[in-house]
Amino acid sequence: MNNIEQTLSIIKPDAVERNLDNEIKEMFISNGFKITKEKKIQIEKSEAENFYKVHETKPFYNDLCSYLSSGPIVVMILEKENAVLKNRELMGATNPKDAKEGTIRKKYGISIDKNSVHGSDSKENAKIEIDFFFKD
Ligand code: UDP
Ligand code: MG
Repeated sequence: MNNIEQTLSIIKPDAVERNLDNEIKEMFISNGFKITKEKKIQIEKSEAENFYKVHETKPFYNDLCSYLSSGPIVVMILEKENAVLKNRELMGATNPKDAKEGTIRKKYGISIDKNSVHGSDSKENAKIEIDFFFKD
């Protein structure tokens, strides 16, 4: 049985700033993802705070929200079988130092905070995050 899913991906400011968005999109496409919607935007800090609300009690929350709103980002809906998990695999570990060879974060990530990409961590959050950016 096929299990086509959608997940939300963000190319973060550190990667857009280095003009890596096309290369990263190519990595998704060559790994069998369809980019069904995408837009390049810059968000307000208050929007980043809403987006990352699950992390609101974490010590890195304020810096994380300042960072995500610090420059242009590319937000995309990715579609593929088991897209949520497959995208997490392709992204690699949160800390690029721990990310495996061949993952986006290993290849492009600078540090745990500047780790180039975001990806939804569950089907439920994928739906919430897709609605956050693409419901209008
Ligand atoms: N983050 C950070 N410091 C930490 C942990 C996380 O700056 O100690 C940032 C990092 O950019 C990460 C984001 O917060 O991508 C969200 O954290 P999460 O644990 O959800 O990691 P992810 O799902 O992005 O791998
Ligand atoms: Mg996460």
